[in-house]
This record gives sequence, structure tokens and C-alpha cells, in this order.
Amino acid sequence: MATSEQRVALVTGAARGIGAAVARRLASDGAAVGVLDLEESNCGATVDAITSAGGQALALGADVSNADQITAAVDRLAKEFGSVDILVNNAGVTRDNLLFKMTEQDWDTVIAVHLKGAFLTTKAAQKHMVARKYGKIVSLSSISALGNRGQANYSAVKAGLQGFTRTLAIELGPFGINVNAVAPGFIVTDMTDDTARRVGVTPEQLQQAAAEATPVRRVGYPEDIANAIAFLTSDESSFITGQVLYVDGGRKMAS
Ligand code: NAP
Repeated sequence: MATSEQRVALVTGAARGIGAAVARRLASDGAAVGVLDLEESNCGATVDAITSAGGQALALGADVSNADQITAAVDRLAKEFGSVDILVNNAGVTRDNLLFKMTEQDWDTVIAVHLKGAFLTTKAAQKHMVARKYGKIVSLSSISALGNRGQANYSAVKAGLQGFTRTLAIELGPFGINVNAVAPGFIVTDMTDDTARRVGVTPEQLQQAAAEATPVRRVGYPEDIANAIAFLTSDESSFITGQVLYVDGGRKMAS
């Protein structure tokens, strides 16, 4: 059981990639962490990394786009660890294609996981936050929100999450809840490795091209995003809400 001072965080899509790095970082900063992914069994590596470092973590299996599953998972975390103080809406998928080749299923899947998923997870989590008059919510947007060839579905949801963030900042601010978004640039994960394969280059070639297009001349790593989210979910950022923080090595300005 968490102590009354200890924050409880929920990170979705935390089995790997950015979500896993965020879960590990929030745990090392002292939070008890709900590590949520589609399959509970896939959360073992992240949970083990946290607990073997002396932290507290709970594996949770749920599809963020399924209201019953995600509500049950959020409520289970609140029951086992005492509250839900921090939510990171990170779970994501891509179904890239040019518009004329994009299927209705490609569109619906991306909308469901990112937008409906963030809606359902936030709705389930905010009731625990409002009750305690404390909360930090961060959703993962992307530089693709500004437009990216082959990602009509993904850029639409990542722009949508920015509007979602600003609106919830207005609605939930009076209850002591800060709501922000982080918009990563190119971050090395399975997601960007899959993109490389789809466009017919190696992950290393795609990373080199991304680094060359980035003012700081390197790609990002999951820990770069975890650093920003650690700040936005800390009490040092309590006067920051409704913002979108681009963590992209300057790529947005250079595009
Ligand atoms: P990733 O390595 O593909 O990891 C995504 C995780 O989300 C996976 O563990 C996946 O589970 C899980 N997931 C997918 N659908 C889910 C669902 N319906 N319910 C629960 N979990 C689900 O991706 P990433 O690169 O770390 O990206 C994390 C977030 O950052 C995403 O929102 C992404 O759009 C955003 N982002 C990434 C980049 C980048 O360059 N990597 C840039 C900008 C924004 P499975 O393994 O079971 O599929």
C-alpha cells in the first residue's frame, strides 16, 4: 500500500518504448506506478525493472479503447495503491498510409487507441483526482500533429489530443489538476523501427536521416521524453497547464 505522501501514477502503453521509460522514471522519482498495456503479461519487464530498483509497481492489462476494461484497471490501481494522482496517456499505434490507400479500419484503429483511449482513461482517472483535489495528466502528442505525409489518421489524433489537453486544463484546473501534452520528435522505439521497415530502409538509416533533419543533430530516446514528463508531473510545474511541450531537438522549427 502506498504511503499518504507517495504519488500513484498510471502509465498506459508501458510495456515498452516511451511508456516503459516514463514508468521507470516516475518510479525512481518515488511514485507507485500502474504499468498498463494490452496484455498484463507483457508488463513484466517494466514491473521487474521498477521493483528490482526498490520501487513499487502493478501490472495492469487493458485495451485503453475499451471502456469496461480501462475503467476496471484504473479502479483496481486506485484500490490497490490508494489513489490515482498522475496519468500519462501514452498507449499508441500507427497505421500509416497515403490517404488514397488508407482503409477505414486504419482510420478507426488509430482514432480509437489515441483519442477514444485518452478520453476513456482520463475520464476514469479524473474522478479519483477530483476527489483528492490533486492530479497531473500528460498526453502524448507528436510533431506529426503539424502534418506528416502518410499519417492523416495519426496527425489528426495528435492534433486532437492538443485540443483535448487545452479543454481539460480549463475544466479540471479548479480541482487542482494540471493537464499538459508532450509532443515528441523522432524517438527511437519499436514504433520508429516499424516505420523504417515500412518505407524500405533500415532503422539505422532512418535514424541518421532524422538526426540530420534535427537542429541538435541527434535522434531522441525514450528517456528524453521521460525527463519532460517527470517535470510536468512534479509539483515544480504546478503553474503550467494547457501547454504542449515539443521535445524534438528543434525539429518542429526546422521542418
Ligand atoms: P511503441 O514502442 O509502439 O509502444 C506503444 C505501446 O502501446 C505498446 O506497448 C503497445 O502494446 C501499447 N498499446 C497499443 N495499443 C494499446 C491499447 N489499445 N491499449 C493499451 N496499450 C496499447 O510506441 P512508442 O514509440 O513508445 O510511442 C509511445 C507514444 O508516444 C505513442 O502515443 C506515440 O504515438 C507517441 N510518439 C512516439 C514517437 C516516436 O518517435 N517513437 C514520436 C511522437 C509521439 P503492444 O505491444 O501490445 O502493441
